[in-house]
Amino acid sequence: MGPRLCELRSNPEGLDLVAIKVTVGRSCYILCSAYLPYESPTPPPRQLMELVEWCKSNNLPLIVGCDANAHHTCWGSKDVNQRGQDLLEFLISSGLDILNRGTKPTFVTRNRQEVIDITISNSWSSHLVTNWRVSSEVSMSDHRHILFNLETGTVPVEREYRNPKLTVWSTYKDILSRNVGPPVRPHTIPQIESSVKNLTKAVVHAYEQSCPVRKRNKVRLVWVPGHSGVAGNEEADVLARKGSSDTLTGPEPAIGLPYSYPLGSIDNWTREKCQEDWSRGIGLRQARLLIKGPGAAATRSLVNLNRASINIITGLLTGHGRLNKHLSTIGLSPDSRCRLCGTSDEDSIHVLCHCPRVIVNRHRLFGAGYLAPEDIREIPVDRVLAFARSTGLF
Ligand SMILES: [Zn+2]
Repeated sequence: MGPRLCELRSNPEGLDLVAIKVTVGRSCYILCSAYLPYESPTPPPRQLMELVEWCKSNNLPLIVGCDANAHHTCWGSKDVNQRGQDLLEFLISSGLDILNRGTKPTFVTRNRQEVIDITISNSWSSHLVTNWRVSSEVSMSDHRHILFNLETGTVPVEREYRNPKLTVWSTYKDILSRNVGPPVRPHTIPQIESSVKNLTKAVVHAYEQSCPVRKRNKVRLVWVPGHSGVAGNEEADVLARKGSSDTLTGPEPAIGLPYSYPLGSIDNWTREKCQEDWSRGIGLRQARLLIKGPGAAATRSLVNLNRASINIITGLLTGHGRLNKHLSTIGLSPDSRCRLCGTSDEDSIHVLCHCPRVIVNRHRLFGAGYLAPEDIREIPVDRVLAFARSTGLF
């Protein structure tokens, strides 16, 4: 990945705050370096607040590497000072996330070690940062290098495609029968090859003519009054009449039931079975605390996610995901403690509801610093997923 465009912006008073705009494909990212001098009053400086607001109003991902000279256990310092408290309040009220992980010191001198450098992101960028860490290499400074990966993703490409289910089979049959002449028995190898070639060409041509090329686009379904002169609806009526009077094209034997009828019956049966299993109440301790029960809306939100996201959310809500408590139970991790705070077992309820190191993330996404497990049931799946990603544990 190479940035295609960089713009440098700094405040006129000096280089305490420098921001660059990086363009990759169609996406822009704002990366900022901020120094908050110890002798200055309450952080953060006005220019940083303005930058945060500007990124918010332009929907731009922002990442700030910040020498904050401020202490708070929320980003791994040993204690909390007033500057740290003020800065945390600013971060919470501005909807910003802290990306620091662990308690490895970012500032090291002969007689002092502390975490005073913070990496901050807004809601458009927190899920893009992975593998945040403090480097041990020599940095020629009393501050250590902070490293992380920025996942810039791929640029969506508009793709053309054909959907065979939408083929107009009557058109296909018409074109194919016009293009394939009466059967002729081939006698030589070149004749067989020529027949195969012609037939293939005719099939492909008929398919292409009866199944139009489509682009990925959004379809909006609206109800319109029937038989009242709406052009598309009149056309649909004509085609429906034609379809019902045509001879059947498709697998035999023909059954006089709409396709939706057996599908609906299977659907109802599955739903009843799920409800029955859930009500029986065997096992599933964490899942029962965190999930309301089987439901169409939650299922829809889940199946619309990609595979990696489904993996994270089901692991988190059932307690069988990649968290240290579960991994140590099945012998895959030597330690069951939380990687963020190190004080409790790292299970779903601790991470979602109680871990003190992610209260900022909880405030931003759930509206409260600490929650009861039952509160999670009311939160939409995509929000729980955004929270999980923002913790950096998944
Ligand atoms: Zn924790």
